[in-house]
Amino acid sequence: MALQRRQQEFTVPAHSFQSDPTIIPRPEHNISRSLISSAALKVLYRLHEEGFQAYLVGGGVRDLLLGRQPKDFDVATDATPEEVHALFRNSRVIGRRFRLVHVRFGQEIIEVSTFRAMAGEDDHPGHYVDESGRILRDNVFGSMQEDAFRRDFTVNALYYNIADFSVVDYVGGVADLRAGLLRLIGDPEKRFREDPVRMLRAARFSAKLGFRIEEHTAAAIPRLAPLMADIPPARLFEEVLKLFLAGHAVQTFEELLRHDLFRQLFPMTEEALAQERNDFPLNFVARALENTDKRIREGRPVTPFFLFAVLLWEPVRQRMAKFESQGAPPAEALRLAADEVCARQLDKVALPRRFSAPMREIWQLQPRFEHRTAKRAYRLMAHPRFRAAYDFLVLRAGSGEADPELADFWTKMQEGDATTQQALLSTAPAEKKRRRGGRRRRKGGNAST
Ligand code: ATP
Ligand code: MG
Repeated sequence: MALQRRQQEFTVPAHSFQSDPTIIPRPEHNISRSLISSAALKVLYRLHEEGFQAYLVGGGVRDLLLGRQPKDFDVATDATPEEVHALFRNSRVIGRRFRLVHVRFGQEIIEVSTFRAMAGEDDHPGHYVDESGRILRDNVFGSMQEDAFRRDFTVNALYYNIADFSVVDYVGGVADLRAGLLRLIGDPEKRFREDPVRMLRAARFSAKLGFRIEEHTAAAIPRLAPLMADIPPARLFEEVLKLFLAGHAVQTFEELLRHDLFRQLFPMTEEALAQERNDFPLNFVARALENTDKRIREGRPVTPFFLFAVLLWEPVRQRMAKFESQGAPPAEALRLAADEVCARQLDKVALPRRFSAPMREIWQLQPRFEHRTAKRAYRLMAHPRFRAAYDFLVLRAGSGEADPELADFWTKMQEGDATTQQALLSTAPAEKKRRRGGRRRRKGGNAST
């Protein structure tokens, strides 16, 4: 079968052969226009009417072929960004690294990009690659075929043609889609060097789609993972959100660990996981991620600060214990530990202040759950971060790091009316003994946070 043949051809570097694409005509695939958003269709038809080529491309085509609902729709065309902009009143040209056009329809944005060429070819002087092979700029327009080859995975390089509703495949993407394979286009080493974030994308798509990472692609990852150190922390922050807040956090986490990528993002957490005892903290992180996925399935909100609070908690706890053993009172030890962890972590993955402040509040509220006098309990419950901190306490209790009885107490406090609350408070132990590492006497003063 033609598709299989192409698959085998594809072991040679993608750009070293010229080929006609495989065209899958409308009757032989399952993409129906009724599954494409009307905004995307408007953009496609308008470009087509004006005599330009217009294709749906990327994750949209991939997901439609898999019978999944696409997250968004991207369009590729031979029209330049200026030509696209001139066609749509509701559009703007954006981007420095890649110049493309956003066409807005209410809440929905259709991203329209002009066919671009592959990086690193001498006849395209608009490309700049650094010493490690990383692309710094690639804004060279190219043919449709070149546009296909500069994409990351074969399954992400399929085009749906609005002119005849066929699917156009230059890279064996349809066969890989059927086989459930994520294969980097071309030489994996070269393509990962060009943009190391593609390694994270491999883990993310593999988790989301349940696809296997093709052998040569996978083999390159642990070797090249340290290149992630060159990626700006702000870009990695965006990627971390896509990795963990897209509904597949548990599988993504496993993929990242398996391919030695997690330590590139969260080195202190990885160290802590390596020292785990009784399945904690692996258990804590995994349960928290499971919980995140569940919330997303139920349409409940998830926040970056809660995620980061979870991922960095064990490193914070370890450092807190160190500071306490040096004589710092708990609240002070916690603050010092949080400072140290944040300072080191921010080198890797940026966390904007609007998220780091509430993340730290979640941590700082944890010791306060142990005080169960009426005055302190009500003050805690009035704290704007109480709910998030309580959810965090429940996760800690679930993984055996905090006292389940304590979490239970706060669950009842929240659910109960004033009478129930008073009854609970009157029978609560004044203060729970710390579970680990012997509690130090405070030298006077009130050291609660
Ligand atoms: P989803 O939106 O479901 O997360 P996607 O495949 O649409 O997945 P996007 O990040 O939206 O991913 O990118 C759209 C397309 O752009 C991809 O399908 C791929 O073809 C191309 N692309 C994105 N990032 C890269 C990259 N780092 N290197 C090469 N091609 C890329
Ligand atoms: Mg997309």
